[in-house]
Amino acid sequence: MTIENLTVLGTGVLGSQIAYQAAYAGFHVTAWDISDDAVTAAGTRFQQLADTYESDVEGATYANKARHTATSITLTTDLTTALAEADLVIEAVPEDPSIKRDTWTRVGGSAPEHTIFATNSSTLLPSSLKDFTGRPEKFLAIHFANHIWAQNTAEIMGTSDTDHAVFQTAVDFAERMGMVPVELKKEKAGYVLNSLLVPLLDAAAELLVGGYADIETVDKTWRIGTGAPLGPFQIFDIVGLTTARNIAAASESPIQQQFADYLKTNYIDKGKLGTSTGEGFYKY
Ligand code: NAD
Repeated sequence: MTIENLTVLGTGVLGSQIAYQAAYAGFHVTAWDISDDAVTAAGTRFQQLADTYESDVEGATYANKARHTATSITLTTDLTTALAEADLVIEAVPEDPSIKRDTWTRVGGSAPEHTIFATNSSTLLPSSLKDFTGRPEKFLAIHFANHIWAQNTAEIMGTSDTDHAVFQTAVDFAERMGMVPVELKKEKAGYVLNSLLVPLLDAAAELLVGGYADIETVDKTWRIGTGAPLGPFQIFDIVGLTTARNIAAASESPIQQQFADYLKTNYIDKGKLGTSTGEGFYKY
């Protein structure tokens, strides 16, 4: 089947970007959120995305394309209306298992039979949600990255129940949306990107808090040794040090706990949160 009508559930950081990018690529997009306040905030986010696209995306100013996109998305708090015409639903509600389960139970009960369902969850495997959808064969993960217009990967991961044709439809959709599809052959926590990135960042944290090497040395070594443009601490600054601390604090590793405290004392308590505040491990 071919996707024409997309419905995005949740219009926060990622949901707003998914909706906007899909509309920009020419899909009919409906975006749903839980409250009038959330929907109003989404309208603001779309206008901010239009600003970003105008400055960062080639061709976005042509014929006011970025501006038209921001107003072309149908916003609603009514789930039944949001789902009525959907060929594909992408869920980007908070990363809380109970919210995800409740959302999929409601969606599974009212979406048209042909509709494909996808979660954008970063940490929950789709198999942990599939039974709540009522249609495991039409359910999979399509995982986008923050700053979708530039970091344009779409990691596509089914469960053992996902129909092959549904998977292929998701791959085609991602391409038409301007993404580079990253196909996983089976379920893996962290998909491809975080399976690679997290161990790198963990090792960098260990080198620092263990007193083995300083920030600049670690980054310089990685850049020169691999040809990568950024070292791990430069990547931490982009991810944001609050997120980095939360992840480290949730770990059972004593080194990661130490890193969480280090980030809090030396950076977060001083308002140095990474590139977003102009300073983290480095000044911007
Ligand atoms: P967010 O908190 O910015 O947005 C969540 C949205 O869901 C809000 O607009 C909120 O109003 C809405 N929502 C819908 N139903 C809700 C309910 N029952 N209770 C509370 N809020 C409800 O979150 P986000 O960062 O956009 O993350 C959303 C999903 O995207 C998560 O699964 C996350 O893992 C994934 N993701 C996030 C990023 C990222 O960098 N932020 C990257 C990739 C994937």
